[in-house]
Amino acid sequence: MRLSHLFTKTSKTTPGDEVAKNAQLLIQAGFIHKEMAGVYSYLPLGKRVLDNIVQIIREEMNEIGGQEVSLTALQQSDVWQASGRWSDEVMDVWFKTKLASGSELGLAPTHEEPMTRLMKNYISSYKDLPIYPYQFQIKFRNELRSKSGLMRGREFWMKDLYSFSRTQAEHDEFYERVAGAYDKIYSRLGLGELTYKTFAGGGSFAKYSHEFQTLSSVGEDKIYVHEGKKIAINEEVYTDEVLADLGVSRDELVEKTAVEVGNIFTLGTKFSDALDLNFTDENGVAQKVIMGSYGIGPSRVMGLIAEHFADDKGLVWPENIAPAQVYLVQIGGEESKAEAEKLYQTLTAKGIEVIYDDRNERPGKKFADSELMGIPYRVTVSDRIGSGSVELVGRASGELGILTQDELLATLEK
Ligand code: ATP
Ligand code: MG
Repeated sequence: MRLSHLFTKTSKTTPGDEVAKNAQLLIQAGFIHKEMAGVYSYLPLGKRVLDNIVQIIREEMNEIGGQEVSLTALQQSDVWQASGRWSDEVMDVWFKTKLASGSELGLAPTHEEPMTRLMKNYISSYKDLPIYPYQFQIKFRNELRSKSGLMRGREFWMKDLYSFSRTQAEHDEFYERVAGAYDKIYSRLGLGELTYKTFAGGGSFAKYSHEFQTLSSVGEDKIYVHEGKKIAINEEVYTDEVLADLGVSRDELVEKTAVEVGNIFTLGTKFSDALDLNFTDENGVAQKVIMGSYGIGPSRVMGLIAEHFADDKGLVWPENIAPAQVYLVQIGGEESKAEAEKLYQTLTAKGIEVIYDDRNERPGKKFADSELMGIPYRVTVSDRIGSGSVELVGRASGELGILTQDELLATLEK
């Protein structure tokens, strides 16, 4: 990617109407555009970051047997009436609209109901189960307050997986498999050490659900962390009974603020009862399908990572999420320009993603932009460094030194 072609520009100042650091930085660096509070467009660099996060989640969902789908954002009201969640009193974040004919529609806040009804077309026998459809989909929620940037959108990305199982044992086994996949996802996202499997309310079909909570000073949730067991308890279920149940005592727990980056939930037969989703078992007897739902917020995760790793110069992306690996800076005359051009081709041909700053800008501006954008490696070609050599600077680690181009390639390919 040549910076002279990129239509987004960095800005010298942080936007005045944003209080969340993640949105301030992402807007300033040209990754996202704010349409209104809690509603953001993704620009080329931001889209790459979101896609990288999504891809990590996708790989782990496929690994445990997930099948990717994409359901509609327009939802009919009747399916929600059947479950009792169409009412604004029950679900207080609805965006509702109408067809020209007058029939009411909702803009997807989540997909339990439509997914359950969809599966009625494909589930009739025990041979059709278990199945695990999932999707990445924009959800719409009329959140009361949306001042945390990407971390609480009114329109945001969600990964939602749904499990359809024959027996409780089959459900329980898959539930644990998802928990394991989530551990892998958060560790691949660089959040492993900060993220706790957190016991939360389970609804009517399980004692607990589990949230994955990442420690953060800007988190909206309060949790009680047990370092030794690497678990936590959400304040909503922080009672003596639950403590005893989990075999932990108050003095072992530390109160922390955290961000819910995902959750896993046993739904039992709540939705298969409401929408009459049955299967015939081996004995020819009709049974209700046992369900679970499993969410992750890729856009919330993006905001959290942006905010968490940032420093006073700007964003600092982990290598596997960054919009590019290398920010190539060219300084000086025609000779270094030709050399940078060649290096750009070489790196690109090797599959290394490069942002090539080929603009007619001062070196200071190029360096500042590379820092603001948070690209892991800055590579500088200049007349002063001389032909055949480059300066390599790690965004997170600081100075790395002067390398020959061969050494550079060896370092980057590692
Ligand atoms: P919260 O308590 O933070 O409102 P929730 O319990 O409403 O979250 P779910 O409905 O279970 O969340 O959604 C699944 C996942 O989607 C959450 O774990 C979170 O990562 C993400 N998410 C939920 N609401 C938002 C939002 N408004 N903006 C961005 N991500 C969200
Ligand atoms: Mg919510």
